[in-house]
This record gives sequence, C-alpha cells and structure tokens, in this order.
Amino acid sequence: MNLRFGGFQANENVKRSLSLAFGQERVPHAVLLEGGAAETAALARFLAQAWVCLAEGAKPCGTCSGCVKARAGSHPDILMLDGDADPRAFPVDAVRRVRAAAWVRPNEAPGKAFLLLGAQNMSEISQNALLKILEEPPAGVLFILTAASASALLPTVRSRVQVFPAGGGAPSGDWERAEKIASAVTAPGEADLMFAFAGLEKDRRQMGGVLQQLLLIFRDALALRSGGKALLSGRGDAAAALGGALTRRSLMRMAQETEKARRALERNANAALLGAAFCSGLRAAAGR
Ligand SMILES: [Zn+2]
Repeated sequence: MNLRFGGFQANENVKRSLSLAFGQERVPHAVLLEGGAAETAALARFLAQAWVCLAEGAKPCGTCSGCVKARAGSHPDILMLDGDADPRAFPVDAVRRVRAAAWVRPNEAPGKAFLLLGAQNMSEISQNALLKILEEPPAGVLFILTAASASALLPTVRSRVQVFPAGGGAPSGDWERAEKIASAVTAPGEADLMFAFAGLEKDRRQMGGVLQQLLLIFRDALALRSGGKALLSGRGDAAAALGGALTRRSLMRMAQETEKARRALERNANAALLGAAFCSGLRAAAGR
C-alpha cells in the first residue's frame, strides 16, 4: 500500500517508517503508535482511512466514499475503542467482541481496521484476550493500537505488533521517583507523599512519565492482589508492598486517580495544583 501523507502533520521519521512498512508486499497486520494521545490518535485515524480507501493508487485519496466516511467517523469497517477518552473502554467482553468482529467480512472496504486507542488502559486479562487474534489475524484486518508507552503492554502483545514511535511527548519518567511515591502513599502522615512528589511539577514531561510508571505499579499491585503476576512495571517489590497493604478497591481507585491526573496534565492543567490534588486523591483512595 502506497501511503500518501499529503498535508498530514506528523513526525517525519514516523511518516517515513510507516511508508516503508506499508509499502512492502506483506503489510503489517498490527501496529502500535507510541507517543502523546493527540498525536497517536490522529495518526491512527489517518492509517485507518488509508486502510479503507478505495483508490487504486496512493492512499488515502481523500475523496472516495471510503475516505469521506472514515473522516466523518461513520465507516462501518472501522471500529474503535477509545481508552484515552474512557479508561474503562476495554473490558474483556469488548475485546472478545472485537475478536468476533474481526472474522466478519468487511462491508464495503477492502479490509477492516480496529482502532484501540490508549491501550495502556487495557488490563492484563484484556490484553491476553487480544493476543489470541493478534497471533492468528484474519486476512485484511489491521489493528492499530496507540499507547503512551509500549512498555505498558505485555511482552507477548508487544512482540506481535510493529511499534512506531509517533513523538509528541512519549514520557521518560523516573522509576526511582515512582517507587518512592508508591511507597509514600501508605505512610502514616501525608508529608512523605508530598515530599516524594515535590519538584515534579516543574517538568511536565517528567511528571507525565512518572504518572505513567505509577499506573503500571498500581496495575501490578492489583494483579498480585488477584493472584496474578507483576508484569507491566518490572517493579515487583513496590507492587507487592502495595498489594499487601491495600484492598483491590483502593488500588483500583488509585489507578483511576493516576489516569485522571495523566489526562488532565495532557490537557494542560496547572501542574502544581494537579500535583497537590493528585497526592490527596491518592491518600483518599488508599483510605489514609
Ligand atoms: Zn479514498
């Protein structure tokens, strides 16, 4: 497939690598666009449009009925779950419905595209459900995942998708800091947490990265609490300490608070106010 970016605004490197990947005889059947929510979502929609475009030459042509419907968000062969808009967009039965839909022939396009935006919000169970279809994808189906960081996905899922860094603030983070914050959540007083968080608000990118890492630690704590394994963060000790000290409900609320803060930060909320609200939100979630 010959991709035509035209005036589409995106990182030049990612445009080049996508053109190369989709220009080959065997096009990818699953891609992960890694980076900021806005950048990756725009790119995901662009790719989906190209996938359903009816033009013979370069795609998307922008004018065929496939392109028009894709842009209007009404194409029957593009299905989307948006975990950036709603972190609970990926219950396991929704993923199973995606799996079933992938085996149904397209209505009018040459193939079907499934957009799974904000895949960092997908639980381990849902990721495992998705893995089944990624291992044996039906012909003509393209899965387009987006995530703040590829590290939020299970290694088994990661190995089945082609990762494209889309730019736009893929956060770096600071694991040491994230662990310190995680352990301060359950401290007797609130000063420890404020102290662990202090200074982060000066660097929004770093703060976004640390929030993402905290989310992975909280998810792992939840997994451990349910008898699973800590897989996402690679910070088993921090996750085990939390999993041992807190209830499932608390851990779930902490993950929600973290995702809420991460999204507010992306929407340009005041970082200092956000940090203070996040700390008190975490303490409340932990019942402290
Ligand atoms: Zn077209």
